[in-house]
Amino acid sequence: MKLDVTKDLYFQKIQILIIELLNTIPKTRSIPFGILLARGLKRMASKPEILIVGGGVAGLSLATRLGKTMGRHGRARITLIDKSFSHVWKPMLHCFASGTVSNENDRVNFISQASGHHFEFWPGEVVSIDREKREVVLSPLHASDGSVVLESRSIRYDTIVIAIGSCANDFGTPGVKDHCLSIDNLVEANVFNEKFRMELLRAFANNSELDIAIVGGGATGTQLAAELHKALEIVGPYNLHAFGGPPPKLRVTLLQSGARILPAFPESVSEAAQKELESIGVTVRTSARVAAADATGFTLKDGSHVTAKLRVWAAGVKAPQVTTTYGGLPLNRTGQILTHPNLCSIDDDRIFAVGDCSFISDDPLPATAQVARQQARHLARHLPAFIENGQPVPGCVFHNKGAIVALGKYNGWAALPGGTVWGGGISHGLSARLGHAMLYRQHQVELFGLYRGLISCYSNWVETFVRPSIRLD
Ligand SMILES: Cc1cc2nc3c(=O)[nH]c(=O)nc-3n(C[C@H](O)[C@H](O)[C@H](O)COP(=O)(O)OP(=O)(O)OC[C@H]3O[C@@H](n4cnc5c(N)ncnc54)[C@H](O)[C@@H]3O)c2cc1C
Repeated sequence: MKLDVTKDLYFQKIQILIIELLNTIPKTRSIPFGILLARGLKRMASKPEILIVGGGVAGLSLATRLGKTMGRHGRARITLIDKSFSHVWKPMLHCFASGTVSNENDRVNFISQASGHHFEFWPGEVVSIDREKREVVLSPLHASDGSVVLESRSIRYDTIVIAIGSCANDFGTPGVKDHCLSIDNLVEANVFNEKFRMELLRAFANNSELDIAIVGGGATGTQLAAELHKALEIVGPYNLHAFGGPPPKLRVTLLQSGARILPAFPESVSEAAQKELESIGVTVRTSARVAAADATGFTLKDGSHVTAKLRVWAAGVKAPQVTTTYGGLPLNRTGQILTHPNLCSIDDDRIFAVGDCSFISDDPLPATAQVARQQARHLARHLPAFIENGQPVPGCVFHNKGAIVALGKYNGWAALPGGTVWGGGISHGLSARLGHAMLYRQHQVELFGLYRGLISCYSNWVETFVRPSIRLD
């Protein structure tokens, strides 16, 4: 892919030359056209530069919205930077990891989204920010054979929004880095899926059991445990005699350090979810603090050992390590950027941070897609006036609309802010599971518009007739 940066720079230089030329013309009432033209060109040449770092739930939604309002009318140059080339709805990563959703059709390509929505896309990882020069530095982009495709580059900004998300937090537990997998992004979910498929085949061939241990009883770990069982149920009826005996037994152990799983939900949901998981064969161990991980499994603080062929760390939340190189911005203990309620860094009024990588000092919010989306919407509404007229961005008020957890096809619950819980029951939480799926569809409509969003939903449905319902290769 070729980035036409030099062409853009020449264009800007030509614009400036024309302005300078027109400025030499005496500004009398007899030449209003010249003055008007000069003003127009001047505005074009000094278009504010808005950088959005991270095209996740918050960043891509913000870039798309600002593209429609500012980019489309030439009011600003909006650039999205991401270290990957496509976006996925992160709350679906456990489905990609278990293979129950094929991710080919659920990716949004940044280049095509940018060209259709009046913003630019630059691939690369932002490794540092020079706040004096108002410049970010992107690491070189490498091909899979290690060769350099794009050299390290820097981009200037007037306003920057950091939306680089989060990753699981191993709290420095020995052995986790070397012996555990995580599913914080698509690459990791695919790596897990590859290992899961291979171990499953091995278990088929050896007529043995497959042990998987997941650390973290929050939404990620709980949903992954259920989805893995769903994957095995789908695989069961396939003709796999060539690989060996009957479908192997899957032994999933969910380890939660706290007293109950899904601590962000009411106790009734935690209890019902634990029962549901146990009914499908998942071993749930609460108050189980992990002391260390090794190639055979996890050692708990009480000295016991949980054997596992595949080990997943899905506990805790921290910002990516790279925030420590972002120009000395004040961070909290987990590396999240400290912001005022209006999402502006507490130390720099040109830097905003949204979603999982940010932390509002006065009023911390959970790291959820709901928070990320509302914050992106808030900035999309208020950044134009801030950039063009210097109007301060008001505080972002979070409207808690509740939370939904879906245990594969088995059950689901929604907890509303007033304490109402719905789901479970004889319908196996169908309404809650549909609600969970609707959140994704809503996100697609936000990115593509209603028409294309519905087509995408329809094409996903058509796919269920022509593709296997599990990833097999
Ligand atoms: C398995 C799983 C299930 C979940 N389920 C739910 C759920 O049911 N409900 C819910 O509300 N939340 C859920 N979450 C949490 C939710 O996904 C996150 O809160 C949400 O995605 C945060 O959005 P974000 O925009 O802050 O970051 P992300 O969506 O994570 O996006 C971050 C983006 O930044 C890019 N990036 C990272 N570092 C750099 C860098 N240095 N330079 C350039 N680009 C960079 C990444 O490539 C990525 O595109 C779940 C999370 C997981 C992992």
